[in-house]
Amino acid sequence: MSSLLVINADGPETRVALVEDGLLGELYIERKRERGIAGNIYKGRVERVLPGMQAAFVNIGAEKSAYLHVSDVRGTPDDLKRLFAGDAGKSSDDEDEEEADRRRVGSGARIEDLLKEGQEIVVQVTKEPISTKGARTTRYVSLPGRHLVFMPTVDHIGISRRIASDKERRRLRDIVESMRPPGSGFIVRTVAEGISEKELKSDMEFLIKLWNEIVKRSESGRCPALIYNDLDLLLRTVRDMFTPDVEKLIIDSRSEYDRVKKFIAALMPDFTGHIELYDGTDPIFDGYGIEIEIDRALERKVWLKSGGYLIVDEMEALTAIDVNTGRFVGKSSLEDTITKTNLEACREVAEQLRIRSIGGMIVVDFIDMDRPQNREKVTRTFNEHLRRDRAKATVTRISELGLIEMTRKRTRESLLHNLTEPCTYCEGKGYTKSRNTVAYELLREIRRQGDLIESDTIIVEAHPTIADVLATTDHAFIEDLEKRLQKRIVVKGRGSFHMEDFEIHSPGEKAIEKSDLAGGREREEPKRRKRRKRALGSPADVEAMLAEEEHAAAGAGGGNNAASGRADDSDAPTGNANGNANGDVKNGFATSPAAGPADVTPAPAPEIKPTE
Ligand SMILES: [Zn+2]
Repeated sequence: MSSLLVINADGPETRVALVEDGLLGELYIERKRERGIAGNIYKGRVERVLPGMQAAFVNIGAEKSAYLHVSDVRGTPDDLKRLFAGDAGKSSDDEDEEEADRRRVGSGARIEDLLKEGQEIVVQVTKEPISTKGARTTRYVSLPGRHLVFMPTVDHIGISRRIASDKERRRLRDIVESMRPPGSGFIVRTVAEGISEKELKSDMEFLIKLWNEIVKRSESGRCPALIYNDLDLLLRTVRDMFTPDVEKLIIDSRSEYDRVKKFIAALMPDFTGHIELYDGTDPIFDGYGIEIEIDRALERKVWLKSGGYLIVDEMEALTAIDVNTGRFVGKSSLEDTITKTNLEACREVAEQLRIRSIGGMIVVDFIDMDRPQNREKVTRTFNEHLRRDRAKATVTRISELGLIEMTRKRTRESLLHNLTEPCTYCEGKGYTKSRNTVAYELLREIRRQGDLIESDTIIVEAHPTIADVLATTDHAFIEDLEKRLQKRIVVKGRGSFHMEDFEIHSPGEKAIEKSDLAGGREREEPKRRKRRKRALGSPADVEAMLAEEEHAAAGAGGGNNAASGRADDSDAPTGNANGNANGDVKNGFATSPAAGPADVTPAPAPEIKPTE
């Protein structure tokens, strides 16, 4: 397998694509502005020593002095074990931190004996500064590598708790013990499970070189000064993904190319000949067909070559992937067609999981197959494709119904989470009321409010699509209402309205334009409800009023056969909403028990949103 690392770094974000056999395998994105200072190492000067707090403030050249607690000056391996047990390298409980500091002061050397004002020291930032507080720092530097975390100033070996097997823990400990420089510390990360001695060794060598660079820089130059910048995505990529399997690394920014070159020359000299500056005229991701793949990975529907497709639904609790035959109709038997689609889906599902970086629980719904041997074949193929994945996946067998349940290790936010935000129009629901539902809601509202409007003309403002429905397919209902209310109804389309919003008022009264409202829809909602309340009174009153009207209409025998003019079911996007809409129109307008067709059920109470 030949792979490439294609890096787009000439814009406001760095994007790294791992391309395997011409196909996008993994994608990493980092916005340049979002980087903090945690992990950075500074040469700083002790500004104040505070015996009462058992802490010191250190000038690291930042706006606010950094905080350094005594436990981060004379820390014990126990503290470090606690810190690295989670593999994250950072403690998590913010609130109790100062409380914990106080407890840890107990015994041992005092801050005033360890540090003097004006002293130059090397510290690493463990926590980002926040509004009023400076950064939190430690003198116990730790440098994360691919498989190991190096702690140059502590004599200690730790193994991630998430490596469960005692045998494997012992193996890893023995390897590190035999290779580490005396007195130094290493924590073995979870990802190191099962890796070879050779790989651990090269990671260790990398980290030792990196530390020596830092020491060299701390010995010369000004104070305060930044002496080590925690690796950004670009250099992390080089560290973690630039393996001998990678043919070359291609990057489109001259300055970033130079930075990578320097990094490689200093720390990974074997790879020097494998970096290239991209000089194509197309944007680099276009040139390698990656941009298209990213777009595809943000779609819900993913087409297969055979004409089948996947529907990928990333939800809070799990991700569901549905395999469909689509327009693919094979010439051979149905079972063969289905199996062929499922087999094609195996590869695509595995790829999409990687590109989209989907973790946690995943359910793949393959198309039902009758023959057990076909189910077997699909499971086997799926597992084969998952094997390329860096993230560990656990797969159950395929069930009678063709379902595969699996989990995939969550290593970072999913691509969708990273690159998208909930739709502001539907407020993340993924749908809006159908045009029929809104139109019928509007018609019901005209009937409720019509009598309360004093003029002989009623102005209705709605989204142009809704206005259009009322002017064409549903015009009969408007005419019907005009007769009933003995008023003229003028419907105006308003492009600034949300599809679900409308206003009903007399000609003198001016409706509030949605675009004039600073807060948009969110703020508009309570206003509309308030209007209803003023006009209608309690839900019980409304019910009574409508029942009375219903009764009157039945007596009059108006013969409103408007139901025949109502819009066809097929144009509504969602089945549910559509079903509702039809039910409502029967209840509200088209028919009454006396005048309508026999199959119409009596009207239930109209839907009213309670106003507290
Ligand atoms: Zn939406």
